[in-house]
Amino acid sequence: MYYSAYHQVDVVNGTGTRCTLFVSGCEHQCRGCYNQKTWRSDAGHFFTEALEKAIIDDLNDPRIRRKGLSLSGGDSLYPANLFAILKLVKRVKTECEGKDIWLWSGYKMAALSPKQKEIIAFVDVFIDGKFEQALADPSLKWRGSSNQVIYYFNR
Ligand code: SF4
Repeated sequence: MYYSAYHQVDVVNGTGTRCTLFVSGCEHQCRGCYNQKTWRSDAGHFFTEALEKAIIDDLNDPRIRRKGLSLSGGDSLYPANLFAILKLVKRVKTECEGKDIWLWSGYKMAALSPKQKEIIAFVDVFIDGKFEQALADPSLKWRGSSNQVIYYFNR
């Protein structure tokens, strides 16, 4: 998997202070996409074991308390990303006690594949669906257009 950016401290992608990973790879091609540079699956940098470990360490760093990890993009549920994302979310849930995971994806909940659902089982907040320019509304929280649904799972 490749990623376009990693923010060790982020306060705009989900509630509280968070770590945020912007993965590369997206097939949805939404008109008005805010992050087109992440569409190519090999855009940016290779997601290494070292970065995976750094994310776990950041989430557990007591000096800056993070509420959890946000996964944006690109699309974390893009087929080429599934293996690495599943490994990452499993690690967060086993090694980072009490941390939540937020995940944004262009795929709709009802159409997820079994492998994508396996990832969502570790996610606390899932925002689904493509960005629809005709339904865009800047007053919406955590989503860009009103067709997108926010699922708060009570894990
Ligand atoms: S799903 Fe997100 S990253 Fe992909 S094209 Fe749509 S807005 Fe852009």
